[in-house]
Amino acid sequence: MSTERAKRVVVVGAGWAGLGATHHLAKQGYDVTLLEAGPYPGGLVAGWRTVGGRSVEAGIHGFWYPYKNIFALVRELQIDPFTPFTRSSQYSPAGLEVESPIFQNLPRLPTPLGTFLYTQFKRLPLIDRLSALPLLYALVDFDNSDAAWRRYDSVTARELFKDFGVSARLYRDSFEPMLLVGLFAPGEQCSAAAALGMLYFFILAHQPDFDVVWCRGTVGEKIFRPWMERIERAGCRVLTDRRVSDLTLDGESRVTGVVSGNEVFEADAVIFAVGVSGMQKLVGGSSVLRSSKEFRDVMNLGAVDVLATRLWFDRKIDIPHPSNACFGFDVTTGWTFFDLNTLHDEYRDEPGTVIEADFYHANQFLAMSDEQVVPLVRRYLAKCVSAFGEANVIDSSVIRLPRAVTHFAPGSYQYLLPAVTGFENVFMSGDWIVNRHGSWSQEKAYVTGLEAANLVIERLGHGAKAQILPVESDEPHIQVARTLNQIGRDWGKTFLPDFWLP
Ligand SMILES: Cc1cc2nc3c(=O)[nH]c(=O)nc-3n(C[C@H](O)[C@H](O)[C@H](O)COP(=O)(O)OP(=O)(O)OC[C@H]3O[C@@H](n4cnc5c(N)ncnc54)[C@H](O)[C@@H]3O)c2cc1C
Repeated sequence: MSTERAKRVVVVGAGWAGLGATHHLAKQGYDVTLLEAGPYPGGLVAGWRTVGGRSVEAGIHGFWYPYKNIFALVRELQIDPFTPFTRSSQYSPAGLEVESPIFQNLPRLPTPLGTFLYTQFKRLPLIDRLSALPLLYALVDFDNSDAAWRRYDSVTARELFKDFGVSARLYRDSFEPMLLVGLFAPGEQCSAAAALGMLYFFILAHQPDFDVVWCRGTVGEKIFRPWMERIERAGCRVLTDRRVSDLTLDGESRVTGVVSGNEVFEADAVIFAVGVSGMQKLVGGSSVLRSSKEFRDVMNLGAVDVLATRLWFDRKIDIPHPSNACFGFDVTTGWTFFDLNTLHDEYRDEPGTVIEADFYHANQFLAMSDEQVVPLVRRYLAKCVSAFGEANVIDSSVIRLPRAVTHFAPGSYQYLLPAVTGFENVFMSGDWIVNRHGSWSQEKAYVTGLEAANLVIERLGHGAKAQILPVESDEPHIQVARTLNQIGRDWGKTFLPDFWLP
């Protein structure tokens, strides 16, 4: 029998990325310690209960059709957390603007035809919709490679859409609202590279990609709780209320331990799975991380404020679709609202309506008191569904999330960290890490966790790598267009001087 001790891995941060890495390494027999600064695991998707026992969360989270790795995890855990695929609506202060079908139920057309033909626009004229066509070139040209990110990242999404001839109305009524809910920032503050990557993954790569399911309760209760039980059964130590502040170093570049308060956790490898703001706090306080330029450069990144509200009304209100995105209410803030009586088991039999309304890029809202926020949300809801105007709010929860999500600002790509760092046994994960998988948000966070686990396995030489499902490949006509475009670019390089900005 081998007496060799199991290799020790410390994972910092218990969101999708941290739990993904921890779970896989624990299954491979590593001695894993997961350190989480907060009182419970979950990160941005953690849910909890109010003093009155009602469940709330830091914003509701959708799971889109291409989240293959998360769906595979749910199958592995043998849990059933999700609603069926739902239809959605889009509202402006003028009322209903768009209704989306469940795209996978309709005859599949080559992308982006299905999205274009099956989406029911109530007001947007055809001529405005057609003005998106030239943008297809940018979608083909942006193939998620490093070179493509460098070409598009310093341009704002607004400039990109303007340069490709998108009409003002299509930009205001369609693209900018998508940026506000997908990248949490208005077009003039978003990297064009991030905009193209996000739109392609969530909407345009394949007809069913925009189809979405939701948890039938908080993600914390429906997924993270059973997942944590599995992780703890696999022998992992999960320690909450442990904020990591520094590392210990052996010589130049090999980390030997992770410091949290007065404790030092010895490590053969370390995986960071913290968001941008958390990482910046860590770098600011850590003599080891501060010594490295790539970590100091993380200080150049930004993060965006979010506001999550939950309102209980005194009566049932008929809401056409359970998930709704809204635009045109505030210039640089997007918001969504969800009918929780339809989505969450807990609220199905509630006598009144329960609504989650989340605001993205919500800087100006964070300064408002709850007494100001709640009537404003009710007023906004009444512009979308008039019955909210007669209903009374009988309970509410307002959660402020300052600097909660990554700001993919123009020029930020150069400061995002890759998974492999200058410290030979420290690896990065999270939804803001540079990788080539092509996914975004929760799916990306989970995938980067698995990728970091695989890097640890490569380095420490023990165990089987996690199987990571790739995103569905490009449709054949997109593959052909991308190949031709690349041939054209390579050919141009043979005789044009390398003279212009990328
Ligand atoms: C309102 C809102 C709505 C969203 N909607 C969606 C959606 O519909 N679909 C979707 O896919 N995604 C959505 N997202 C994005 C999604 O939540 C994130 O992409 C994902 O949760 C990121 O996971 P993560 O593991 O990278 O980071 P996080 O969830 O941020 O986890 C990082 C963890 O690290 C911990 N930490 C930080 N510093 C330290 C330290 N020094 N020591 C120890 N621990 C530390 C934190 O406490 C946290 O638990 C939404 C986000 C918000 C805020």
